[in-house]
Amino acid sequence: MTDGRKRAIITFNIMNMTASEPVILEHFEPAARLLKLLAHPARLAILDVLRREEACVCHLEAVLGLRQAYISQQLALLREGGLIEDRREGWNVYYRVSNRRVFDLMDMTASVAAPEGMPEVRYDKRKCPCPKCNGVIYPL
Ligand SMILES: [Zn+2]
Repeated sequence: MTDGRKRAIITFNIMNMTASEPVILEHFEPAARLLKLLAHPARLAILDVLRREEACVCHLEAVLGLRQAYISQQLALLREGGLIEDRREGWNVYYRVSNRRVFDLMDMTASVAAPEGMPEVRYDKRKCPCPKCNGVIYPL
């Protein structure tokens, strides 16, 4: 048997072992789930707004210029994934980030994705009707 053929068989065996060893993949599942949750521009944008302060859905709608139903859908996923939590105050529900270390992850991701730096985000400057802004133009 030539060396090349022997190496091919060994490689094949290693590949086979890896494929039939789900324990190894299980180890990476939690991180993969988190990255999958973060791998969405709207969810990253929501988290970036929540980085400044807690916010209600109508505030996020005014700032991001996205439909409320769509934002609610993304908020539900972020909450299910344990990244945000909410609290009720009167008629309003406010969302905030439950683990602020997620911002380190977002910053690191941005620095790898765009090593020269990303342009600053320009949020919509529409009037926000939420109780906190009270119709005032959302400040940057
Ligand atoms: Zn507002």
